[in-house]
Amino acid sequence: MSEENSKAKKHVTWAEPPQMTLMETLYIPAIAAGIGTTVKRMFGKNETRQYPEVEPEIPPNYRGVHRLNRDDQGRVKCVACFLCQTVCPAKCITIEATATDKTDPNWADRDKYPATFEIDELRCIYCGMCEQACPVDAIELTSIYDLTGLSREEMIFDKEKLLEVFDETTQSGKDPVRTKRGTLGPASEILVDLPDESSSSDHPSS
Ligand code: SF4
Ligand code: SF4
Repeated sequence: MSEENSKAKKHVTWAEPPQMTLMETLYIPAIAAGIGTTVKRMFGKNETRQYPEVEPEIPPNYRGVHRLNRDDQGRVKCVACFLCQTVCPAKCITIEATATDKTDPNWADRDKYPATFEIDELRCIYCGMCEQACPVDAIELTSIYDLTGLSREEMIFDKEKLLEVFDETTQSGKDPVRTKRGTLGPASEILVDLPDESSSSDHPSS
């Protein structure tokens, strides 16, 4: 055995599986514990949710369907920096950037914007890392949890659809813009006075 291997072996701890007792091999303790849990639930508080008749209360930092936010001019807020696409562990964001026309006064303050922006909502694991990575608070997850579709294609949200989600969710007041850059990043900055921030200038109509 080489010196390197013997050094490495010193740092390895071998774990032996615990030996089962006779009772455990007969599964009697596990069955008794299972029956105990069933009986406890029979007489405990009923926690059945009457969904869909009664919709659940969704916390303000829930990670549901995405949206692309608009800026105060109603433009897509995204500056096509690719940070969300890079950080996404599921690789479900695809962006094509385009340079802005600098002679157009509407885009004088931007170098780039996304020509296309797609999120595959079926591949997404709703981890929220795209929201955290975005330097301009352009991408957010919403409280929409009941997304369904009839085809895979339908579940790939393009830029227009993501902007539509923004319009719908902000106009209904369901999901006020929630990301505000802070020292710890937007996802950790969900505040109790969040509804007051719905008057944010990020909304196109404001
Ligand atoms: S929530 Fe996570 S998995 Fe989904 S698009 Fe964002 S970074 Fe990717
Ligand atoms: S949504 Fe944000 S992180 Fe993603 S490309 Fe646009 S600006 Fe960058």
